[in-house]
Amino acid sequence: MLFDLDGVLTPTADLHRYAWQSMFTEVFAEKGVTRPYTDDDYFEHLDGKRRYDGVASMLASRGIVLPLGLPTDPPTADTISGIGNRKNVYFERALTELGMHPYPGSRLLVDELFEKRMPMGVVSSSNNARWVLTAAGLIDLFPIIVDGVVAARESLASKPAPDMFLFGAAQLNLPAAQVVVFEDAISGVAAARAGNFGLVVGVDRGAGHDALRDAGADVVIDDLADYASATSERRH
Ligand SMILES: [Mg+2]
Repeated sequence: MLFDLDGVLTPTADLHRYAWQSMFTEVFAEKGVTRPYTDDDYFEHLDGKRRYDGVASMLASRGIVLPLGLPTDPPTADTISGIGNRKNVYFERALTELGMHPYPGSRLLVDELFEKRMPMGVVSSSNNARWVLTAAGLIDLFPIIVDGVVAARESLASKPAPDMFLFGAAQLNLPAAQVVVFEDAISGVAAARAGNFGLVVGVDRGAGHDALRDAGADVVIDDLADYASATSERRH
């Protein structure tokens, strides 16, 4: 079983939104921007984009142009990369202060599968996956983690390419046809479908049942507890 992280195991999206808002409120104050950051900005400029692309789009909306800089720029640097890295500082701070709890239904399912010694892995584009899993108390359940750090190291294309999931299946020593994938994002479901995985389970956290099915999900559930109860019903 391979699980996406953000939106499947943990409600991480809220924390990212909180981090973006805190960071841009600070940056706008520093730069004398009078139009405040709003939720609409998040959906228009940041949601689903890679971090530095989102920063550039957000700054441009307020008439600010900065050099890209380098990924190694410190969070204090007045560059797109520096500001992007500052968002990560806010994210890490929020994670430490607010903590991270898995969705209860997800916890239920992974505990059940772990007891059955089901081979399990996490496949997430996030660079913070290990940290989020640790904060959520799930790190020990997942010996296989294919995250943004691994993807960069192994030159794996990001979702909707199937590469990250296929790498995860290889780490589990299983052909994709014998692996179940849980995904909440359209791009993630498409990635699993493209990899010919045995079962693609769409988790509807807002994308919608129809959209997830259209992207290639074999089944769509609202919560991983639905899958847990389905497997125990089959057992009885
Ligand atoms: Mg997700």
